[in-house]
Amino acid sequence: MDGFDGRCVTDCEQCPDLVASRSRIVNGVGPDDAELVFVGEAPGANEDEAGEPFVGRSGSVLDDALDNAGVDRSAVRITNCVRCRPPDNRDPTTDELANCRGYLETEIETVDPTLVVTLGKVPSEHLLDRSVAITKEAGDVVDCRLGDRSQRVLLSMHPAATLYDASQRDGFEETIVSAVGLAGLGDGGNDDGDGQSRLGEF
Ligand code: URA
Repeated sequence: MDGFDGRCVTDCEQCPDLVASRSRIVNGVGPDDAELVFVGEAPGANEDEAGEPFVGRSGSVLDDALDNAGVDRSAVRITNCVRCRPPDNRDPTTDELANCRGYLETEIETVDPTLVVTLGKVPSEHLLDRSVAITKEAGDVVDCRLGDRSQRVLLSMHPAATLYDASQRDGFEETIVSAVGLAGLGDGGNDDGDGQSRLGEF
C-alpha cells in the first residue's frame, strides 16, 4: 500500500467526503509493540486538530480509566477504524470503513498485541463483522479473524457513553481493568499494596 508504512498512513485520497472534511490523517499512537491496542471509530474535531486519537473528552475518560487500572496511556496503542474525521461527526460509511480496513488490519498485525479492545458499537461491529448489542456484550472476549490472523478482542462501550450517562462509568472502568489484566499490564487495578502481581487472577 503506497503512503503506508505498516502503522501510519501518510497519504490517502480514497474517501472524497473525508478528504474534504479532514485537516489531517490521524494515525494510531503508542508503542509499535504494544500488548494492548484500543480501536475507536473515527477522529472527532479535537483529534483532527491535534493529529492524535482520543484527545478530547472521550480521551480523558479513557486516560482516567487506564490510570485507575494502573497503566499510563503511553504504554498502550490507540487507533481508529477510520483515520480521517467524518463531516459533522457522522458515523463512517460502510465504504469508508472498508477503505481503511487494510490499514487497521496491517497495523494490528505489525504491532501484534495480546489484546485488542474495541471502543463502542462501530469498531465492535466492524471487527467482528456482525451486529453487536454493545450494552449487553461489553466485557465479552472473543476471537476474531483479522486478515490472516486470529486476534483476541475485548468488546467495550465507547468512553463517550459515560459522558451521556454517568451510571455507565463503573462498567467502563471495569472493562478497562479486565483489558489491562488480559494484556498482562499494570496491576489490573487490583494492587492491594503488597507489591505482588494479580495477573494470574484474570
Ligand atoms: N472517538 C473515537 O471513536 N475516536 C477518537 O479518536 C475520538 C473519539
